[in-house]
Amino acid sequence: MTYDYRSVFDGGIIRAEFEKAGIKQHFIPLIWKYVIENPNCEWDEFPSLPSAAYSLLRSKFKPLTSTLHSVVDSSDDVTTKLLVKLQNGGFVEAVIMRYDSSLGKYNGKPRPGGPRSTLCISSQVGCKMGCNFCATGTMGFKSNLSSGEIVEQLVHASRLSNIRNVVFMGMGEPLNNYAALVEAVRIMTGLPFQVSPKRITVSTVGIVHAINKFHSDLPGLNLAVSLHAPVQDVRCQIMPAARAFPLEKLMNALKEYQKNSQQKIFIEYIMLDGVNDEEQHAHQLGKLLETFQVVVNLIPFNPIGSASQFRTSGDNKVSSFQKILRGSYNIRTTVRKQMGQDISGACGQLVVNLPDKMSAKSTPPVTDIEDLCIR
Ligand code: SF4
Repeated sequence: MTYDYRSVFDGGIIRAEFEKAGIKQHFIPLIWKYVIENPNCEWDEFPSLPSAAYSLLRSKFKPLTSTLHSVVDSSDDVTTKLLVKLQNGGFVEAVIMRYDSSLGKYNGKPRPGGPRSTLCISSQVGCKMGCNFCATGTMGFKSNLSSGEIVEQLVHASRLSNIRNVVFMGMGEPLNNYAALVEAVRIMTGLPFQVSPKRITVSTVGIVHAINKFHSDLPGLNLAVSLHAPVQDVRCQIMPAARAFPLEKLMNALKEYQKNSQQKIFIEYIMLDGVNDEEQHAHQLGKLLETFQVVVNLIPFNPIGSASQFRTSGDNKVSSFQKILRGSYNIRTTVRKQMGQDISGACGQLVVNLPDKMSAKSTPPVTDIEDLCIR
């Protein structure tokens, strides 16, 4: 894709341009800090840059290439959906989720901490993975975001909330836009953002060749895998991409990833009535995961319209599924709270909706990071 102007947060491009023009690299994080604090600035307003930097910035870069088109709060203020317009006219969504960690319990005692925010970020416009339960999948793939366009979602959100965690669980499959993902994360973890790598989670359907290099490229990041089924045929039924990345190969890649990273893996499992939520599936999942260090997050399915071929699992099924994983296999298993449904900001609901299509109803409070993942 060709751009009129590049985002100043396209790290590789700005570094290369500065080097070519003989401008010192240490100005770049200073420019980013200024843009975060003054998103509507003109380059001439920036204090104390070498004169070559001003002409370069003016001719090739914009402080921000995207604009915040609309902001919609859920009725209980727990989630805020940002609709971001890109310079090519496309839209992506990002969702801020606010929660109070002290509402949860740990070892029977209140958790430490207090209010904080997580930003769910999009990595592509649309998605080509086509998961059958996912609203974004119905859009098809439109385009990849640049690293700058990914980072700009954090810049927009930081004006509305103090963002502590970032999750790549919005529109798109982040590992299908790998180079931009890696560059965006490196910018977010460096000056001036300084988001801790352990507070960034990337969620994937299981792109095996990218998982193989994920830890060496982005050490310390969390990996979440949308598993959704414990056996290959059920997985293929709900996630067409599973044909290209068979379960056995995926589990081998995860074993290698865990051996190298020594990090636990978050497993996302959407509960679909009569498809993957029976007791036999819980036992199959338990056996598949019992040798891993994982946290399984059971996600009640959000219907995405009357055309959906799936139904939400009943509470009793979700609860017995959880009991089997915990009781028979000693696997830490949480059930995701529903949140943000009134603004289509919940799991599998990130598809570009203009605000006048949104209706309001209340959502319950959120208590834990594991409850926050979008898909
Ligand atoms: S669940 Fe994720 S990978 Fe699957 S279609 Fe939706 S956005 Fe793409």
